[in-house]
Amino acid sequence: MDIAVIGSGAAGIAAGVCAARSGCSTLILDSRAAPGGIGGFSGITTLCGLYDDAGKFLNDGFTHEFAQAVAESLPVKMGKVFVLPYRPKNFRSLAEKFISNTSHLGAQWKTPLADVVFDGGRITRLNGFEVGAVIDCSGAAEVAKAIGAETLATDETTQASAVVFTLCNVRRPIATAADMAHVLLRLARAGFAPLNLQASLEPDTFTAKFAGRAAQVPELITFLRANVRGFEECLTSLDDMTTAHRAGRMIVGQYVLTGQDVMTGRKFPDAVARCAWPIEQWNAAGVVSFQFLPPGIHYQIPARSLRAAHVANLFMAGKTISAEVDAIASARVMGCCLATGAAAGILAADYVKSSPLR
Ligand SMILES: Cc1cc2nc3c(=O)[nH]c(=O)nc-3n(C[C@H](O)[C@H](O)[C@H](O)COP(=O)(O)OP(=O)(O)OC[C@H]3O[C@@H](n4cnc5c(N)ncnc54)[C@H](O)[C@@H]3O)c2cc1C
Repeated sequence: MDIAVIGSGAAGIAAGVCAARSGCSTLILDSRAAPGGIGGFSGITTLCGLYDDAGKFLNDGFTHEFAQAVAESLPVKMGKVFVLPYRPKNFRSLAEKFISNTSHLGAQWKTPLADVVFDGGRITRLNGFEVGAVIDCSGAAEVAKAIGAETLATDETTQASAVVFTLCNVRRPIATAADMAHVLLRLARAGFAPLNLQASLEPDTFTAKFAGRAAQVPELITFLRANVRGFEECLTSLDDMTTAHRAGRMIVGQYVLTGQDVMTGRKFPDAVARCAWPIEQWNAAGVVSFQFLPPGIHYQIPARSLRAAHVANLFMAGKTISAEVDAIASARVMGCCLATGAAAGILAADYVKSSPLR
C-alpha cells in the first residue's frame, strides 16, 4: 500500500480522497465503525473556517467540493464570522460516498492503529501492511505517539470539553449577542456552567454546547423552561448527548505554526492552506474567548507544518498539524481540517511517487 491515513474525520476524509485521486493506493483506518469523526458523530452542526470575513471561500479543491456537497443553505453570519450549517447524518453519508466512489481508496473500520514499525527514519509497516507514507489524522497524534516522535498538546485549560445536544421547540430568535446574553445571564445567575447555542437547519432548533456535566442537562432544561421566555416548551433527547473533546495533540513538524502567525495573517512560500478563523479558546470553566484577525486578513499554513520534523514519510492534518496551542485554537475548525487534509494527501502522494523505494 502506498499511503495509510489514520482517522476519518474531516481531515482524514480529505487526506484519503486526495491521496487516492493523486494515483496512490490508499487505506483509511479508523477505530470507529464509520467515517465522520467529530464532525459526523458529536452533534455539531456548523462548519467553521471555510470563509473569509466577507463570506468568500478560502480554499478551493476538495474543501470547496465537500462544503458544496454538504451545504443545504447559504453560509450564515455569526457575529464577525461566516459558518455553514449542516446535518451530521449528511456529513457521515457524504464521507462514506466520497470514500466508496474514489478509485484506489479503501477503508477499514473498527480498526485501531497497531504495530507501527519505525526503521531507518521512516515508518515501514503499520497494522501489518507495508506503507510508503502515513498521514496522521487521528486528532491525537496517535502515529507519532506509537513511534515516540515529538508532540505538543492542548488541554482543558484552553480547549475545554463540552456536552453537545440538540434543543428543539425554542420559540425565540437567538441571532444577536444581546439575545444570547439574555439567556446566558439568567443561567449564570442561577449558577449553571456556560451554554453556547447555535441555530441549526431545523426550525426552532439549536445545537447546544454545555460546559457542565451531562448529568446536569435535565436540570438545565427544567430551568430554561421555567425561567426564560421562548424556552417554555424546549426539549432535548437525553439519548442524543455526546461529550466532545476539543483538546488534542499536535506532531512537531518542520515548521511549528504560531499564534503570532495567525494573528498577523502570515504568508509562506510553501503555503498549502488558508484560514481566517479567530483563535478560539475555551477555558476550564467553559468560557469562550475569541481573538479575531484584523479585518480582511487570513493566514496561510505551510507544507512544512504538515510534515513531521524527523520522520521522512509521516504527514499530518486536521487537529494534529504542527502548531502551537494558540495556533491550533484557530486551525482546528473543520473548514481548516478539510484544507490541511486535502493538502497532506497531495503532499504524501508526491512524496511516495518520487520515492526510490516505491
Ligand atoms: C465541543 C466541540 C465543539 C466544536 N464545534 C465546532 C464547530 O461548531 N465547527 C467546527 O468547524 N469545528 C468545531 N469543533 C472542532 C472540530 O469539530 C474538530 O477540531 C475537527 O472536527 C477535528 O477534525 P479531525 O479530522 O482533525 O479529527 P476528528 O474529527 O477527531 O477525527 C479523528 C478520527 O481519528 C480516529 N482515531 C483516533 N485515534 C485512532 C486510533 N488510535 N486508531 C484509529 N483511528 C483513530 C477517531 O475515531 C476519529 O474518527 C468543535 C469541537 C468540539 C470538541
